[in-house]
Amino acid sequence: MMTAEQYEESLRRLNLVVYMFGKRIMNPVDDPMIRPSMNAVAKTYEMAGRPEFRDIMTAISHLTGKRINRFTHIHQSREDLINKTRMGRLMGAHTACCFQRCVGMDALNALSIVTYDMDAEYGSSYTKRFLKYLAFVQENDLVCDGAMTDPKGDRSLSPSQQPDPDMYLHVAAEKPDGIIVRGAKAHQTGAVNSHEIIVMPTISMREEDRDYAISFALPSDAPGITYIMGRQSCDTRKLEDNPMDVGNRTFGGHEALVVFDDVFVPWDRVFMYREYEFAGSLVEKFASYHRQSYACKTGVGDVLIGASQTIAEYNGAHKASHIKDKIIEMNQLNETLYCGSLSCAAEGHKEPSGTYCVNTLLANVSKQNVTRFPYEIARLAQDIAGGLMVTLPSEADFRSPEIGKWLEKYYQGAPNVSTENRMKILRLIENLTLGTAAVGYLTESMHGAGSPQAQRIMISRQVNMGEKQTYAKNLCGIKDETKP
Ligand code: SF4
Ligand code: FE
Repeated sequence: MMTAEQYEESLRRLNLVVYMFGKRIMNPVDDPMIRPSMNAVAKTYEMAGRPEFRDIMTAISHLTGKRINRFTHIHQSREDLINKTRMGRLMGAHTACCFQRCVGMDALNALSIVTYDMDAEYGSSYTKRFLKYLAFVQENDLVCDGAMTDPKGDRSLSPSQQPDPDMYLHVAAEKPDGIIVRGAKAHQTGAVNSHEIIVMPTISMREEDRDYAISFALPSDAPGITYIMGRQSCDTRKLEDNPMDVGNRTFGGHEALVVFDDVFVPWDRVFMYREYEFAGSLVEKFASYHRQSYACKTGVGDVLIGASQTIAEYNGAHKASHIKDKIIEMNQLNETLYCGSLSCAAEGHKEPSGTYCVNTLLANVSKQNVTRFPYEIARLAQDIAGGLMVTLPSEADFRSPEIGKWLEKYYQGAPNVSTENRMKILRLIENLTLGTAAVGYLTESMHGAGSPQAQRIMISRQVNMGEKQTYAKNLCGIKDETKP
């Protein structure tokens, strides 16, 4: 396993083509806008090296028998799935942001199932290819970007019906030694902090879409790949010299648009090639795993609840019954999210490949709650924090020899608490509910791992309605529905 320092050094060896604010970023690792997101991924390495977190953060590879980072592991039991949920919460609590590495783990696990299923159907040899690739990822302790979301163009049209054929990533040409691919993947979490990109289709496909039914892996700096960094609310505060105003000084997440401009993929890295019948299965498996992964938000919720209790104390309001009740409400919502992620793991099952997969219905119910509860938790946090969270002057004013004394005096809360500490915790709540971390805690909770409607469709498909109706009819004595 790599250390956090080795991970950082490994990123420096990549030759990524990254753009931000219209300019090429030659050194993303040290860029002040990107670095906090690198720190968050580096934390997945640091935590794996700490003995107290070993059981949660690491696992034994079923391929080699060696201890590996759990983010590269293929789940071998329900306990593995449960530990994955625990890991997400733990990492969320230690970073208070999206730590990005789950998408690759979820892509590897989904592919371990679907490559096996395709081989069983077609007699192909995808499993062998995939396991060779998996061994490489595990051995080198790599970060993989799990790239699913295509730009999608006109949503009423299928991939092959789009006026611009590149709106879904597709095969542009076939060569003796591999394929040429063209298209893009949008909203790619942690893309610039990744060693590898694992591409998957974004929706179920029909025969006419077969050129779009592809999955493959590439080094993140393969020729023809360009990253265009997404903006986040309040992001340029990271460029100022007022660390207190950032709220979370160390950690953050990032998303990027990844463009594949006629990129070559050798055959040994192609894991699905025009098997359109299995595109939907790959999407469903990845989405279910990633919906479980949203246990991360429970960990971020832990931080926000802790910050809310702290500001209540700093304001001298913590003994008020309505504040106590709001904190209870936040905890109840947050633990409900945890219950959802744990339950889909505990009800997991073994796939024919041997990989353990979460319960699809429960994973979708869990993620549906994630599209709602963090917003309510954030609303309560803002209620408890008070308006000062958004009217607070900058750290520079606080440090000013002329006016700093006024801020010190008038922003004093409880007498035993420094004004500076009160400002720091307010900025953290601002960061989590309105600033850069709100991307991860709120909007990503809404749209990450699929927007709410995607989960509702899955819930309606997975629920056994016939069984429910039978229970009801049996209990009230309905036997024959045909009229005499
Ligand atoms: Fe992982 Fe959560 Fe970020 Fe998704 S949103 S990559 S589950 S930390
Ligand atoms: Fe996500």
